[in-house]
Formats: sequence, structure tokens, C-alpha cells
Amino acid sequence: MRFDILTLFPEMTDSIFSYSIISRAMSQNLIEIHSHNIRDYSTDKHRRVDDTPYGGGMGMLMSPQPIFDCHKAVKGGRENVRTIYMSPQGTVFNHQKALELREYDNIIILCGHYEGVDQRVIDEIVDEEISIGDYVLTGGELAAAVVVDAVARLCEGVLSDKECYEKESIAGGLLEYPQYTRPFDFHGLTVPEVLNSGHHANIELWRLERAVEKTLRVRPDLIENGTFDKKTLKVIERIKKEYENQQ
Ligand code: SAM
Repeated sequence: MRFDILTLFPEMTDSIFSYSIISRAMSQNLIEIHSHNIRDYSTDKHRRVDDTPYGGGMGMLMSPQPIFDCHKAVKGGRENVRTIYMSPQGTVFNHQKALELREYDNIIILCGHYEGVDQRVIDEIVDEEISIGDYVLTGGELAAAVVVDAVARLCEGVLSDKECYEKESIAGGLLEYPQYTRPFDFHGLTVPEVLNSGHHANIELWRLERAVEKTLRVRPDLIENGTFDKKTLKVIERIKKEYENQQ
């Protein structure tokens, strides 16, 4: 899978992906990530990429010409390409959207800056606008990095096993259970005995109960809107009743 990031600050996105799992996946040719400087495509003699908005108002807007030409050059004749504009006006990104985007061979992500981009860019070349949450960032680079990271880790071979993401928070329908590593006793806080018992069925049940408890407390919407197997449903009902009895 190939990601192309169109930005005024390619050093920013390049540096984010030069570490850890994503960097390793790139060197193993499991994914490709390329950052492109929109300014390189400006036909203005001073390489300008922005201008004041028609109708007046605060700030500067990114001009259409450098973005159009950058997008055209990057897209080339490729097929199965999705062009995304990172924007606080987009639909909010989540795991389901990451799964959908994984199906494309090529994803081009446009990062806005200043007051954003000329509307004609959105109308002509953008397939969808994606937001990473209800707040406004100074630029789309961090948002693009979030999307690329979340999609890339779902690509074949990037993580050692599908289980690494299928059973995690959100993807598995619940928030994850608490985890512990050595030492057994840290600052007088010990690891729950069951995890040291070697009894796999008990460990599995304990983890499910803790996951349900935390999800009910922090993200009850995931339980309300999710679909679960019989065993999980039983635990959900039991823990809900325990809560009701406590009140
Ligand atoms: N004037 C724009 C508006 O009100 O919708 C906001 C522009 S923002 C200061 C600059 C750029 O940051 C945007 O063009 C977009 O690319 C990016 N950005 C800001 N917040 C974002 C968010 N929540 N999700 C994704 N991208 C965001």
C-alpha cells in the first residue's frame, strides 16, 4: 500500500515515520510513504502558495494551482487511488474508516495550513474530507500522520499477527483489559494473582470482565452500539446488574 502526503512541510511528516514499526515496515517494502512539497509546484516567481480570501476575512488561504499540479504529478496514471483532505470539517476518523481505507492501493492525503485550501480543490480532486476530532490544529500534518499510522498498522505484515489489532481496544468492540509486566511487586502494588496462575480459562474470563467494566465506565456507547458473542453479553449483563445493585 502506498501513501502520498501533499504538504508545505514534508520534513514534518517524514520525521514522524522514521521511527519504530512504521519505519521498519517501509524498509521491508510492506508500505510506502512519500511526502511531497506543494511549494515545489508553485508557478509563482516567488514560489507563493497562499493568498488572501475573496470577500475578506482573517488569514491566508492555500491557492489552488500548486495543489492541483502537485496532486496531478503524484497521482499520475495510478488506479484505485483515494484522495483525502484532512479537515476539521470532515467526518470523524475511527477504526471502521481505517479498515475501509486499507482496501485502497493508493492513498493521497492533502494537508491544509493557514485558513485551509481554496474550495475548488475540495470540489475537484478530493474524494473525502476526514477530521481527527472536534478541535482545530494549525495544519493537517499531524492529522495525516494519525490516519497513515492507523491504516498502515492494519496492512498485511506490518504487525506480527492480525491478533495484535483485532483484539485491541475499539477493534475488538470493547476497551482492552489492564496489562502488567515484571516486576510482580512494584511500589507495593502487586499483579492480580489470576494472571500468575497459569489457568487460561480464568485469565480469559478475568480479562473479559475487566474489559467490560472499563468500557461500561468510560465508553458505554461502545457497548450500546456494539455486537457481541453470547459469552461477552452474559458478562455485560452480569456487570450491569452488579452496578445497579450498588446504586
Ligand atoms: N479555517 C478552517 C476551518 O474553520 O475549517 C480551519 C483551518 S486549520 C487552522 C488548518 C488546517 O489544519 C486545515 O486545512 C486542515 O488540513 C488541518 N486541520 C485542522 N484541524 C483538523 C482536524 N481536526 N482534523 C484534520 N485536519 C485538521
